[in-house]
Amino acid sequence: MAWCAAAGVLRLLPDSAVGPPAWFDFSSRFAGAGIRALLSRRDGAPGSADFDGVDLDEHRRQLAAALGIEPHRLAVPRQVHGNRVEQASPGRLHAETDGLITGDPDTVLTLQVADCVPLFLYHPATGRRGLVHAGWRGAAGQIANLAVQQMAEAGSPAHELVAFLGPCIEQDCYAVGPEVGQQFDPALSRSNTGGGYQLDIAGALRQQLGAAGVPAAQVHSAGICTHCDQAAHSYRRDGHRAGRMIAFFYQNGA
Ligand SMILES: [Zn+2]
Repeated sequence: MAWCAAAGVLRLLPDSAVGPPAWFDFSSRFAGAGIRALLSRRDGAPGSADFDGVDLDEHRRQLAAALGIEPHRLAVPRQVHGNRVEQASPGRLHAETDGLITGDPDTVLTLQVADCVPLFLYHPATGRRGLVHAGWRGAAGQIANLAVQQMAEAGSPAHELVAFLGPCIEQDCYAVGPEVGQQFDPALSRSNTGGGYQLDIAGALRQQLGAAGVPAAQVHSAGICTHCDQAAHSYRRDGHRAGRMIAFFYQNGA
């Protein structure tokens, strides 16, 4: 319990009102009024601390309810570390899809991550949004580039997009084998003392965004390493017990 002195009236708050925040909130990174960009925190979001026994679909619905979002607005990809990007269709599952795009203000884009990059794309002029899940396979498959192309085809040209790379595993913490490391530009994948490589996935996505025509000045990062920050879920750190952070990208008040 905690005391709240709002409006000069003392009242009791439930325990859920205190403690760490439930969300990493990146909404201020987007210029558009009312855009919300959230990622559930390991240490704050109810039910998110432990993956074992957690039904992620139910967990997503509960988090959405806490945000006042009805389930029929949720667009949910069944991620497979591929490079398919689709137009979001809320209320149905997107099989084998790792990125969703929407121009519909009512649609809420979602995804889940634990070390991979949640990439947010936003076009201020139209409000069109994209949300992409990218690990090394997605990056190798050019998923950021493909997402930007699809945004452009839908009417949101690359040079007008704002991109935001959410928390992900950073290069110093992300050792990969040579079969992975050698697929990437040496500037992004440096050899380590163990015979493998340290891979900069966020850097690979930045490179793709640049090649696709998004100006570097419009690409931003959270600067949070999921492996280092205990507030984040990390598959590399916690293994099969790792939970997932769920991202929500939406127009508030739609
Ligand atoms: Zn780290």
